Amino acid sequence: MVEFRSLTRRSLLLMLCAASGGLGAATRALAKSSKAAAAYRGAPNGRQSCANCAYFNPPSGCGVVSGPVSARGWCNLWG
Ligand code: SF4
Repeated sequence: MVEFRSLTRRSLLLMLCAASGGLGAATRALAKSSKAAAAYRGAPNGRQSCANCAYFNPPSGCGVVSGPVSARGWCNLWG
């Protein structure tokens, strides 16, 4: 346990830098997949398509795959 009164300005700055590095890693972990990585295609997979996927943001957005997608498309992250 670090006692607050013993912290110098320098050690506080180092702790803030470490914390911001952790946030950067978390942000990268939440980055969207590329279409290639998700095996996106512009055609549905049976009854599964972007239009009935929980990640679809009409008219052409996706919460987990980068770039525009078609409502008639599909990828292996469908859910
Ligand atoms: S996760 Fe895949 S199937 Fe679902 S909306 Fe995004 S691109 Fe389409």
